Amino acid sequence: MINFKQQLTKNFKLGEFFLLGTADWKPEYLENIKKLCAILQDVCDHFDDHCIITDGYRPVSVKVKGGAKFSQHLTASAVDFHLQKTDIRKVYNYLNEKYGNNGLAMSILSNFIHFDIRGTKARWAYNY
Ligand SMILES: [Zn+2]
Repeated sequence: MINFKQQLTKNFKLGEFFLLGTADWKPEYLENIKKLCAILQDVCDHFDDHCIITDGYRPVSVKVKGGAKFSQHLTASAVDFHLQKTDIRKVYNYLNEKYGNNGLAMSILSNFIHFDIRGTKARWAYNY
């Protein structure tokens, strides 16, 4: 069972990561979300801002525009988000400096950051 109300850090509840439902979920993915949350909490604290998650766990059976076949979202290792007030370029630079050995990309057009905990450096650009 997934407890949506589970408080993972000060600012984050588990339910925030399930915008596309809970299909294909595996319990071991929870550890990935916990790691992501610790970093997101650090970002919120650093900028004293609120985080809006727009894509978290992505069930493999749900087709997403622009979604990669082997996306880190499929194992809940990735999050797309923005902060309420802070420019995403500042957030990008912060993540790049402090957690750079991971997947990181931003869309200026759609105002979101993709961050994932793959453990190796990956960067790319969005055309939307
Ligand atoms: Zn993403």
